[in-house]
Amino acid sequence: MILPGATLGVLGGGQLGRMFTLAAHAMGYRVAVLDPDPHSPAGLIAEQHICADYRDHAALQMLGDECAAVTTEFENVPAESLEYLARHCPVRPGASAVRVAQDRIREKTFVRDLGLATAPFVPIHEEADLEAGVAALNPPLLLKTASMGYDGKGQVEVADLAGARAAFERLGGTPCVLEEKVSLEREVSVVLVRGLEGDMAFYPLAENTHVGGILDTTRVPASVPPATADLAVEMAGRVAEALDYCGVLAVEFFVTPAGELLINEMAPRPHNSGHFTLDAALTSQFEQQVRALCGLPPGDTLLLSPVVMLNLLGDLWRDGEAPPWERLFAHPNAKLHLYGKREARPGRKMGHCNCLATTPEDAAALAEEIRAALGGS
Ligand code: AMP
Repeated sequence: MILPGATLGVLGGGQLGRMFTLAAHAMGYRVAVLDPDPHSPAGLIAEQHICADYRDHAALQMLGDECAAVTTEFENVPAESLEYLARHCPVRPGASAVRVAQDRIREKTFVRDLGLATAPFVPIHEEADLEAGVAALNPPLLLKTASMGYDGKGQVEVADLAGARAAFERLGGTPCVLEEKVSLEREVSVVLVRGLEGDMAFYPLAENTHVGGILDTTRVPASVPPATADLAVEMAGRVAEALDYCGVLAVEFFVTPAGELLINEMAPRPHNSGHFTLDAALTSQFEQQVRALCGLPPGDTLLLSPVVMLNLLGDLWRDGEAPPWERLFAHPNAKLHLYGKREARPGRKMGHCNCLATTPEDAAALAEEIRAALGGS
């Protein structure tokens, strides 16, 4: 076990790295962040900020020498960097799990090979694969880049082969998945932690709404039948087991109108849909990340209250002016988290607000009241 006083490393200094750092500090650890941005939210509060590219071997070695163990806050850190780092110190989750999660072709193939359902898809390695792909699937279809896509970026809806060819070119001709656009009853996610010994703990199922491909709200507990929630947890657990995963893992699902669960994607790290745990669970997902990294057993995932998490995007900053926070603070059960980003841009995640209430419906009503009070639409 790595105990308080030790230095923990994190690759990536965005809001997830920052909330990891806050959790680690609360538990008495020191933190070193590697991020190329001199103003990265986590770099600003960590004991050490190594300002360098994720491929910089000297910087990786410095981080590895400095730290008792290293984790990552986003899946697009090159797996090679994690492998290099692993020669110097424990890296959790390991490169092989991150490699699966950072490429949609590998990810969906992995899930399908486990016998778990996904939206029907075909890997597209080159343009020549499009014809068979379009023939095999029922339109409408989505063409998604295999890597580096997030928040709905890097995906285009297509209706036929001509559309798929144009979209493939527009996406840069890089490997993609072509998949059926399924009709969605709702979207849900499971956030879990798996420790070094394989012990797992799961948060209750979260229900997510997106606007423009970006997460807007997360409601917990989700409004699905208990059997659906149990099945989602079981499926997520199977993914974590098969990856021999160590750390916090988020698995996102589509629920079809027939009640079927399809795995959409996974994130090998704490997830935006797990931010509710900061105020509404006995242990936050970031404490779990620290625990797994340090070889400690998972903390209790007990939900303390129904909650709706509301994402606060840069759109709320009109002409660079911050929203009227005093209106949010007027609500005693609304918990504000801001990430310390210097510049607000439309679509940029600047913070979130956890709205707690005695029922999920009341929590949702509070979230909408706060959205309106802050000038959101
Ligand atoms: P992703 O980047 O794969 O998470 O996609 C972003 C959002 O687009 C998802 O949260 C869904 O709302 C929507 N979406 C993605 N794939 C599909 C699909 N196959 N069918 C229907 N909606 C989808």
